[in-house]
Amino acid sequence: MSEPAGHGQTVESIRRSLTARLKAAGHDAAELDARLLVGAVLGLDLTGMITGAKRALTRDEADRLEHLAQRRLAGEPIARILGVKEFWGLPLHLSAATLVPRPDTETVVERALELLRADGVAERALRIADLGTGSGAILLALLSELPNAHGFATDISTEALQTASRNATALGFADRTTWIECDYGRGLVGAFELIVSNPPYIPSADVAGLDIEVRAHDPRAALDGGADGLDAYRALISQSAGLLTSGGFLVVEVGQGQSGDVEALMTASGLFPTGPPKADLGGIPRAVS
Ligand code: GLN
Repeated sequence: MSEPAGHGQTVESIRRSLTARLKAAGHDAAELDARLLVGAVLGLDLTGMITGAKRALTRDEADRLEHLAQRRLAGEPIARILGVKEFWGLPLHLSAATLVPRPDTETVVERALELLRADGVAERALRIADLGTGSGAILLALLSELPNAHGFATDISTEALQTASRNATALGFADRTTWIECDYGRGLVGAFELIVSNPPYIPSADVAGLDIEVRAHDPRAALDGGADGLDAYRALISQSAGLLTSGGFLVVEVGQGQSGDVEALMTASGLFPTGPPKADLGGIPRAVS
């Protein structure tokens, strides 16, 4: 059993003991997680934690830290505990209705930007749709790079749309975003130069086998892609075919081994692959366009 955090200890000593407890429990990022949790409770950034290293914690601070430490030790992801995750350099608030944005998903942003820039249209007043936006990660990353674009985000979850809209406001993009509560592209009208999506794509039978940090804390609706994992693509690809401008792009995230099937669905809807899928940092084909 590990020692619980106590009041009267200094910032430095409690950070060290929390690191040791997380390490002993097998957490890979023990050092970083301990810093983030101590920083969250005390409202300190990295510098503040160094300059304030000798200050003692109050009982209330020690209690709050212990509560967060217990949540982390019970397997809750650090991003869920902090309620925020960085994506494309942007701090994004999360809620129970949103997936924690993954670094792999930045591959979708990269591919979309490559296509628009190669076409020389990145500076235009583009209309971009993000189907099943969740926290707004993909759309907000794109808006941060495309100064004249307007984003239309859909989600079937009211709570997700509220989270995404809060993120847009915090980042200064409120007047460049429109929120639509609907299933993928069903509620959209008009033509879009770019449509993006990271839909649920885990086959239903595989959801139970996902890592506990994903299975127990990410919303099932954002993970479960039906029997073969491709249900969402069937819906959103055929919808997108009717929503793109001629010469417009559709860029979607896919799971491992799904890129061929998703390309085939695109071709069947009259959309032509722009090139091979773009691989993520782990070398897995991740963005199909
Ligand atoms: N990449 C996520 C995971 O494997 C799944 C996200 C999704 O289904 N879109 O945890």
